[in-house]
Amino acid sequence: MKTKKRSVLVAWSGGLDSTFVLLYHLRQKDLKVASYAVIHSQVVANEEHQEARFAIQRYLKKKEGLKWVHRDIVLGEEESFGIEDTNYQYLSMQAILWTMVGSLILEPDQDLMFGYIQKDRIWHKIGSLIRLFRALQEAQGKKGIVVFPAEWWTKTDIFSGLDEELISLCWHCEYPIKGWACHTCEKCKDIDKEFKAYVEYCQRT
Ligand SMILES: [Zn+2]
Repeated sequence: MKTKKRSVLVAWSGGLDSTFVLLYHLRQKDLKVASYAVIHSQVVANEEHQEARFAIQRYLKKKEGLKWVHRDIVLGEEESFGIEDTNYQYLSMQAILWTMVGSLILEPDQDLMFGYIQKDRIWHKIGSLIRLFRALQEAQGKKGIVVFPAEWWTKTDIFSGLDEELISLCWHCEYPIKGWACHTCEKCKDIDKEFKAYVEYCQRT
C-alpha cells in the first residue's frame, strides 16, 4: 500500500528565513508543500515582500523545477488591530496574525511550519503562540501541529543554505523607501551586519 504523502503549510513572507524553511521542505520529495502569506498593515512591507515572493517562485521553478501552491491572505491594508507594540514583553501583532491565519487555513492533514530563527523576538512568548494556534485548531475540530524547524538556526546557517541570487531576491527591509531597502531600519542593519560577518567568515574558511 502506498503511504500518503505528509503535507505541510509553510508561513512564507518572502524574507530570508522563511524562504530557507520553504526551500528545505520543497526539496524533500516525500512531502506535499503549500505556503501562505498574510497581507495586513501591521505586517510590514507588504508590496515588497509580495514581489519578492513572485520572483522567488519564478526562480525556484526555473532553477530546480520546484512548484507549490501559495496563497496570499489579505486581511486589509489600512486596518490596525490594537497597538503595534514593540515592547519585548508582548507578543508582536505580526506573529499573532500569522499564527491565527495559519491555524484557520490549515488543512486537516497539514502541519504548520514557521521560519522563526534563534534571534527572533518570539521565544519568550512561544507558549502563548502555541496555545493560540491550538485553540483555533480545536475550535475547528482539527488536529494540526505547529513546528518551528529553524528555532536554533542563525543567520549564518541561513546565508550558507541559500545561493547568492536567492539571497538577493529575498526581501527583509521593514521600512522601504520607494521600493528600496532603507539600510537604516533594525532589520536592514541586522541583515547588513550579518551578511558582512558571513562574507568575512567565508573568506577565512
Ligand atoms: Zn530597512
